[in-house]
Amino acid sequence: RKIVIAIDGYSGCGKSSTAKAVAKILGYTYIDSGAMYRAATLQFLKNGTDITDIKEILSSLSQIEISFRANPDNGRQETYLNGENVEDAIRSMEVSDYVSEVSKIKEVRTALVAQQQKLGDAKGVVMDGRDIGTVVFPDAELKVFMTADLQIRAARRQQELQEKGVEVKLEEIIRNLGERDEIDSTRKESPLLKADDAIEVDTSYLKFDDQVKKVVDLAKE
Ligand code: C5P
Repeated sequence: RKIVIAIDGYSGCGKSSTAKAVAKILGYTYIDSGAMYRAATLQFLKNGTDITDIKEILSSLSQIEISFRANPDNGRQETYLNGENVEDAIRSMEVSDYVSEVSKIKEVRTALVAQQQKLGDAKGVVMDGRDIGTVVFPDAELKVFMTADLQIRAARRQQELQEKGVEVKLEEIIRNLGERDEIDSTRKESPLLKADDAIEVDTSYLKFDDQVKKVVDLAKE
């Protein structure tokens, strides 16, 4: 029996890495919905889209084709925007600082949610984001809501970036995560909310393997 697993929560609490590992163990498809908002943001930045102008927004949205492909060298899933590998570009601080503003826009969400629902059509999907259990897959068989202490999240994110050779000050990361949490939780369109039937997992003091096991065990229940 294959199911849909929705993982939502604050920025940087380990949703994507957990979701990826869970998908690997269960033989499921992993879909990073945040990467799609990031790719749209990258396109808006490239186009110089004025996000107060609905015509410009719709025109930029019509130019966005997002897909995921496995890198043959390491098997890692990477994000493509209009056929171009944007996996690194969408993780830049410039995109991180703008993505929550772009994600507030109703038309952006409508377009991306439709794509996410199509990608998750087959069972056996793990998707992480902010509104997966509430809006994208309200009928998901397993919903997880992840939280973690802001300081701990920032330190983990800094380490992740360091491993990729990117140096960012801790204060800068704390500021970015805090700002995104604030915008994502207070926006009008599908704010970040724990679904009534979601299981809360605080990863602050969990080891990575333990948080993965917790979700895998829940999926097997
Ligand atoms: O998951 P990640 O941190 O990469 O997401 C980047 C941003 O995209 C979030 O801060 C949020 O503004 C937006 N997002 C969203 N809905 C989702 C996934 C991401 O609004 N389902």
